[in-house]
Amino acid sequence: MRIINLNPTHDIGATSWFVEIDGHKLLMDSGVHPKKDGMESLPLYGLVSKEDVEAIVLTHCHHDHVGSLPVAIRHFPQAHVLMTELSYFLVERVLHNSVNVMTKQRDELGIKEYPLYTHDEVDDIAPVFQGFKYNREIEWASLDRQKDGGPSPLMEFYDAGHALGSAGIMVRGDKETLFFTGDVCFQNQTILKGARFEDVKADVLIMETTRGNREVSPDFTREKEIDRLGNAIQEVLKRKGSVLIPCFALGRTQEILAELALMMKAGKIPRQPVYIGGLGRVFTEIYDLEAHRVHRQHNNLRLTQALQLIVLDKKQMEQMKVGGGRLFVVTAGMMSEQTAAHELALRMMGDEKQAIFFVGYADPETPGGRLKAAKDGETFMFSPSGGMATRKCQVENFDLTAHANRDELVDFVGEVGPHTVILGHGDPDARNWVEQSIRARFPKMKVVQPPPGGVVDIPVE
Ligand SMILES: [Zn+2]
Ligand SMILES: [Zn+2]
Repeated sequence: MRIINLNPTHDIGATSWFVEIDGHKLLMDSGVHPKKDGMESLPLYGLVSKEDVEAIVLTHCHHDHVGSLPVAIRHFPQAHVLMTELSYFLVERVLHNSVNVMTKQRDELGIKEYPLYTHDEVDDIAPVFQGFKYNREIEWASLDRQKDGGPSPLMEFYDAGHALGSAGIMVRGDKETLFFTGDVCFQNQTILKGARFEDVKADVLIMETTRGNREVSPDFTREKEIDRLGNAIQEVLKRKGSVLIPCFALGRTQEILAELALMMKAGKIPRQPVYIGGLGRVFTEIYDLEAHRVHRQHNNLRLTQALQLIVLDKKQMEQMKVGGGRLFVVTAGMMSEQTAAHELALRMMGDEKQAIFFVGYADPETPGGRLKAAKDGETFMFSPSGGMATRKCQVENFDLTAHANRDELVDFVGEVGPHTVILGHGDPDARNWVEQSIRARFPKMKVVQPPPGGVVDIPVE
């Protein structure tokens, strides 16, 4: 087995792994780097562009895993594109949205390489997408290669509990097996139940390490954290301030909306409209429509019925008063420029009545990360387009992660029992903590952190 890390940077970056097994070649994920622009945001496809990749398989529809799919398909036009059937309902919308965002960035930030692909290109490639149920074995090698190369290796999606449609990927070759976690959450979220990775066994494990640098206190519970969020929202609304919760359109938005719906139902916060983004609204509808296919809780909770959702368009946002006790659940989670969260934060930040609540990771080098770090009353550089800003509003962090805690990851390694563990999707200190913990607990395992472009050759044992 041969594996190449195509992430262009040493941080979480853009996920893409090249895998060769039994002479068959596969690409797992095709992300973009959220902090890089233009060509720099792409995985290192050039390193493998001469390889005859037979299939591209997707773990889930977040940008850092799927945002460069059309570019990958340009390199590998013969490849099948495989994903879960739930991701199949999402992927085209995600890619079309990317075209819109990139076009806006070209016009407003002058990034000439954008868009990296067009709406027409997305429409052209869509017919090759295939959706599969969880826990079904799929023969993924192309037929003409199979004739001379023996039977196809198999593939199977395992529910990863991270966002709608998310999966870990099992690849079974003739003599060896590989499991890639994708992004995984072992604990139940409000809607999605935790990953179903119980019977995963593999020779080689590729694992995410997002939270490897984060210790969770032993008395932490998600329930208590949600309670704290509910109380905090209540306080802000009482003083007639508004609450801005920046989050990803897929996954986090629906989990937060579910919490708001449950809080309103329980009378904890008053029933009132919730402002969301256009893409958040689309994904919320898909969460509702596909509820019957999903391993989830609150099965009968339909967000579009339980809540009065109002899509916030740009014009409306510019004219609207942001105070007066409103609830905004909008993108982007890290408040990148040209997003509703960025614009609203600029308008709310200087007013002590308002509140901005973070419910997920914000990289320190993003506007959201800088706002998180700013002290009360501090003037700081928010973003190139937003300029300097002074933080007077309330800012809080709530740990409602959709990623596995680091101790759970190390426990999982023990359950899978691989001879080789390959670490990715984490900052260097996060990967290092996980590597050291695995070495301490499982001294016989080989642990590798391949650098950008790094090759891992695994002899058949
Ligand atoms: Zn993700
Ligand atoms: Zn990710």
